[in-house]
Amino acid sequence: MLVQSKPIRLWVASSNEGKLREYRALAASAGVSLDLALIPNFEALPKFDEAASTFAENAAGKALHYSRFSEGLVMADDSGLVVPALGGAPGVHSARYAGPGASDADRIGKLLGEMRGKQGEDRRARFVCVIALAERGEARGVFSASTEGELLDAPRGEGGFGYDPIFFFPAFGKTYAEISREEKNQHSHRGKAFRKALDFLVSAP
Ligand code: IMP
Repeated sequence: MLVQSKPIRLWVASSNEGKLREYRALAASAGVSLDLALIPNFEALPKFDEAASTFAENAAGKALHYSRFSEGLVMADDSGLVVPALGGAPGVHSARYAGPGASDADRIGKLLGEMRGKQGEDRRARFVCVIALAERGEARGVFSASTEGELLDAPRGEGGFGYDPIFFFPAFGKTYAEISREEKNQHSHRGKAFRKALDFLVSAP
């Protein structure tokens, strides 16, 4: 567990309250005192187009972009599910995999369709998360983590979001939708990448 007294102020480049809550919970469970908030008026700022082909470019580009409009340290992330047997899809397109306006169920349905007939090693998948920090247009750090699993051929479990119900995590013998939020935070791509960023922030001069 990390120990530090002065709260670190960090602006999250997002308008998503759920994301803010998740990162706050992750910081609390890591024992880091963090003053975490969404960038004010985020939707009114010039938008960053997340059109790069890598998570790292999208996260770093987003952090750099929004740090030019904000005071202090800005954090941005990009994440998704990578299936090697599908050439890395859905990858950076995870959120939009089944088109605009589609639901999590639609995206899962599309992915399971693409996976039809694939077995064994071909069902391997990994969640990836990249978190970037920037301040006044300068990069401060990029942190990445992934978690390996297997895709089931039907959803299982009621928890989580996104592709969680088909992502089987061998260490638990369950899908991400069947484990508790705390268990997922401990092992997830996002939890691991964020703890790397926190380690950096706590030890930075
Ligand atoms: P973003 O990083 O907020 O752009 O999210 C990318 C997309 O990847 C999400 O909309 C989900 O479809 C998927 N994704 C990322 N992380 C997870 C996760 O922990 N569980 C399930 N789906 C995820």
